[in-house]
Order: sequence, then structure tokens, then C-alpha cells
Amino acid sequence: MKIINKPDNLFELYKTLCEQQIPVSEYKHFINSFLELKARDRAIPLTGSFELTPLCNLDCKMCYVHLDSNQFDYRRLLSTEVWKSIIREAYESGMRRASITGGECLTYPGFDEIYLYLYSLGIAPAVLTNGLLVDESRINFFKRYPPKSIQITLYGSSDDAYEVVTGHRAFTTVYKHIKSIKDAGIPLHLTITPSFYMRDDIHQLLEKAHSTGVPYYINSCLKPPRENTGRIANDITTDQYIELYSHYNKLNNRATVTVDFKSLPEQNRVGIPKTGLRCGAGSSAFAIMHDGNMCPCFSLRSMMAKPTEIGFKAAWKKINAFAVNYRTPEECNGCIYYHSCLSCAALHENAPSDGHCDPRICERTKKLVAAGVVPYPEIPEE
Ligand code: SF4
Ligand code: SF4
Ligand code: SF4
Repeated sequence: MKIINKPDNLFELYKTLCEQQIPVSEYKHFINSFLELKARDRAIPLTGSFELTPLCNLDCKMCYVHLDSNQFDYRRLLSTEVWKSIIREAYESGMRRASITGGECLTYPGFDEIYLYLYSLGIAPAVLTNGLLVDESRINFFKRYPPKSIQITLYGSSDDAYEVVTGHRAFTTVYKHIKSIKDAGIPLHLTITPSFYMRDDIHQLLEKAHSTGVPYYINSCLKPPRENTGRIANDITTDQYIELYSHYNKLNNRATVTVDFKSLPEQNRVGIPKTGLRCGAGSSAFAIMHDGNMCPCFSLRSMMAKPTEIGFKAAWKKINAFAVNYRTPEECNGCIYYHSCLSCAALHENAPSDGHCDPRICERTKKLVAAGVVPYPEIPEE
């Protein structure tokens, strides 16, 4: 894709796209990137994620959010009126993209009302689900009101494998639903969240996902479970991720070019103090948890503000100030691995020393580069 210099406005972007003879089919990509950059520059909360419920019809061993009925009384769920009021204020502040998640968002009693409310504002939401409730009647609903996309996370390649990870023999139903959603022409993609509990099934799961003919992705790490879930993360090792990504490349006819680990350049060890989160969390995006708390993203919860108490605008102002002033790990600024590395602020928050990167992330990045499953860093000319 050709590189377009930062245009000042959409007219200028359109002019450049025409001059560079960019195919019209690619305009959407450039317009979305343009809006994202402008939103970050101007601190507009363009994208919102709404966690309607921590309840779920599966019980995954590694889940970061799910609470069962002993841990959470469903009567504590926010009402549809409260959600709609948050959404309305978010829209008035500039939100134009939204995703609905959980727990299992389709178990939330007012799902349709909230979905259709977003629709009435001109926002087709993305729906993140485990797929178990996307039956014929739900598909008919989505055919009538198409979502931006449906994302189904898969947990196993068979009913037996699902039972080990989720406690339920849900595979056959979910697989059937995937086929029906695809046949209905509703935008769909699949994700795989690797965990220790999947054991060897993970490779069979990858092949099963591939066999659906639906786009599928592997999440890069497990989110640490929230304290109130009583769970601990049980991620797979870096070597297992490498095997998985290499398998993914093979299935998708992509080359995996390895290099000698010892030949890789060292990471930046000279710290450059800098503030501001590198991703859109808190500068163009926000997340609202099931209890109504706003945070920059569901993984970064060291700063929270409650729009139901202080109003959306005031809550966003706090979250944005946190994101703008966030002290990023010094070593990451100017590091040649920056574009190959996850370097997510939420991951670094688990690091032993404040303001510095977690050396385990550096090590992991180098291993992934050596294995050829993430891009080789661009070495600046001397
Ligand atoms: S399906 Fe998703 S929300 Fe439900 S328990 Fe599993 S990981 Fe958690
Ligand atoms: S965490 Fe990543 S970007 Fe930061 S110093 Fe380590 S390799 Fe570089
Ligand atoms: S803080 Fe990490 S998990 Fe959150 S949006 Fe940024 S990169 Fe993603």
C-alpha cells in the first residue's frame, strides 16, 4: 500500500488518493486511519467498548472477566437505560464506532435494545461472542440489522476439548452457528485465545478454524484475570506461540524465515523518558466495564472514572489525561524492535521496576523475530 502524507482534512486525503491512483476499494482503510489519527490528536473518544455483563454461558478456566452467579448477582447488572444514557453521551462526545462484549454479551437481557440504540445513532456495532447463542433467530436479527462484524472466540476443536477449557460440550453447536453466520453473509471472524488448558488440541483447533474458510487470528497473549474472578492466567510459553504462529503461516502459505538468535541486534538500553500511550487507549478509545467504570482499555485498569457519577465528558477527560501523561517504559522509546514488539502498557504494568520495560517482553520479542513469526526490525542507517 502506498504511503500517504498526513493530510489536513478529508478533501486533501481524497485528492491524494486520486493523484496516487489508489483503488477505490482501499479508500476505507485510509479514511479509517485518517479518522483515527485525527481523533488521537484531538482527544476524541471515537471508539467505545461496552462490557454489558460479566456473566457467561461458558466457564473458561483462563477467563479474565467471567463471574459466576455466586460471585455476581445479575440484579447488579446496569440497566438498559443506564447503558443508553452512557452511549448517548459518548455519541455526543464523538463516538462513532462501538463494540459490545461481556462475559457473553448475548446473555444480557437488554442486548437487542442497546444494539438497536447504537444502530439508531448510525453505529453498527461489532459483537464479541462465544457463538453459542447465535442461533437462527439471532442470525435473522443480524441479517436485518447487520453488525460491523461478529467475532467468535474458539476454545477447542471438539466437544471433548471444549469441555476441558470451558466446562461445556459446546463445540458442535458453535461450529454449526459459524457455518450458518457465514452462509448468511454476515461479516465474521474467529479468534483463538491460546491457554495452557488447550494443551495439544491447540494445533487441531487452528486447523479447524482454517477449515471454516472464515478469517481467523491468534491472540498474542492472555489477559490477566481480574482479582474478583479468583483465577490466574495460565498462558502458553513463547516456544509454543512460535509453533502456533509457524503453523498458522504454513496453513496460510506464508513464509517463516528464521534468523540466528545470536545474530540479532541488542535492544535499546538507553532510556528516553517519554509520556503518552502508543496505542489509542485513552486518546481515541475507551472501555466501559460492566459496573459502569470507564478505563482506557479492559486490560489497563490502573485508571478508572465513573461516567454515571461525574458524566461521560468528565470521565473521558480523566482517562485522556492519564493516557497522555502515561510514562511509557523508557527503553521502548527509540528501540529498534518497537514495531515488532507488543510493548503494550498493560503488560509492562506487571514489570518489576516502575517506568522500565519488562525484560521478559524484550526476550520474547527477540525470540519471535528469530523464529520469523514477527517482522525483522528496521535497522537505522549509521
Ligand atoms: S466464553 Fe469468553 S467470557 Fe465466557 S467464560 Fe469463556 S472467555 Fe470468559
Ligand atoms: S519491550 Fe519491546 S520495544 Fe520495549 S525495549 Fe523491549 S523489545 Fe524494545
Ligand atoms: S494498553 Fe495494550 S491491550 Fe490496551 S489497547 Fe493498548 S495495546 Fe491494547
